[in-house]
Amino acid sequence: MAGSPPTTDPGQAGAGTDANLSRACCLLSIDLGAIAENYQTLRRQCHAQAVAAVVKADGYGLGAAAVAPVLARAGARSFFVAQLEEAIALRPVLDAVIPACSILVLNGLMPGAEDDYRAHNIAPVLNSLEEIERWRAYNRAQSLTLPAAVHVDTGMRRLGLSPADLARIAAAPDLLEGLVVTLVMSHLACADEPEHRKNGEQLAAFKAALSHLPKVTASLANSAGMLLDPAYHFNLARPGVALYGVNPTPGRPKELKQVVRLQGKILQLGEIDAGETVGYGATYRAATRRTIATVGAGYADGFLRHLSNRAHAFIEGRQVPLVGRVSMDLITLDVTDLPAAAVRPGSWVDLIGSGDGVERLAEEAGTIGYEILTSLGRRYHRHYLGPDQVAPTRAGA
Ligand SMILES: *Cc1c(COP(=O)(O)O)cnc(C)c1O
Repeated sequence: MAGSPPTTDPGQAGAGTDANLSRACCLLSIDLGAIAENYQTLRRQCHAQAVAAVVKADGYGLGAAAVAPVLARAGARSFFVAQLEEAIALRPVLDAVIPACSILVLNGLMPGAEDDYRAHNIAPVLNSLEEIERWRAYNRAQSLTLPAAVHVDTGMRRLGLSPADLARIAAAPDLLEGLVVTLVMSHLACADEPEHRKNGEQLAAFKAALSHLPKVTASLANSAGMLLDPAYHFNLARPGVALYGVNPTPGRPKELKQVVRLQGKILQLGEIDAGETVGYGATYRAATRRTIATVGAGYADGFLRHLSNRAHAFIEGRQVPLVGRVSMDLITLDVTDLPAAAVRPGSWVDLIGSGDGVERLAEEAGTIGYEILTSLGRRYHRHYLGPDQVAPTRAGA
């Protein structure tokens, strides 16, 4: 790193020796050790016998290929993804660590995909009577007994067997004949609002559904559901966001370790006079003379444009406002109040900093931590730290 040393030493993030860092505009550090610890914390707190790991959307944007092996070593044996393609990519990754893990696809069984499920040892989550029938027919035709999960819709009204479907099964149990069901699951709509009456309604509906379905592993709770009464925990919990350090229930004290840190590099500093504007649309106008630092991250990196004139970054622990619009590759910060030594071209700024950094940025963007994580850009210099430290895959790309 020629020139100025970074204000926030990226060495703290374990990346100080990486030559590619000098080329990078942004550094995304992902603490795999913290993910493993979060898994253990959730498992300790949870009354379910087992805790799965939800690694859909590329491990909530953090890289499923890096995250899933850590979770397997931490004890997870069931992995949920949304799409078959994600599951196919995950299979060899998990097999290299712990071969017996099950991978389940939440979005269900697309017609014609049956062979892929079999070939890659992936279980569909069957979301309708039609999907159940198609999986039965496939297994029957091939003399197979491949496992599947069954999803019951208890009030989300997105996916799963409807109350009418359940009534049909109750009246004709042979609709499930020959089906090897290993898991019955449902999903809570309002688990992050513990007092919401819908929680109790869904719990009652799930219990009623279980009475019509095979007596196998039952699963209801996502991250927020794990913080509800133990009655919601059943046999298998399915956390996602909490593994990645985001508080699933706003307002509750967070007992999770921070996983993500995002640092941007100052590319240029400039003085502007009173009356001058910054950025597209001239949406920020300086009232007095200001020092503006331009940092190399923008909406193309998932730094949402809605953060224009709203977000804050941190330099040596001090908050600095983002001024002007977020552009595709750049943001601009007002660093007037900081000592000159702290802000030089090449020095680093925390865009997602310590503690509740993801939640804070989400609030400024008018969204939730989930969207901040899953929007994290592809061209960040990624650095993984922790028990399974691996070389950043997209370094300098
Ligand atoms: C995404 C998802 C989860 C995980 O939810 P979090 O809120 O991230 O813990 C669990 N179950 C289903 C069905 C999901 O779609």
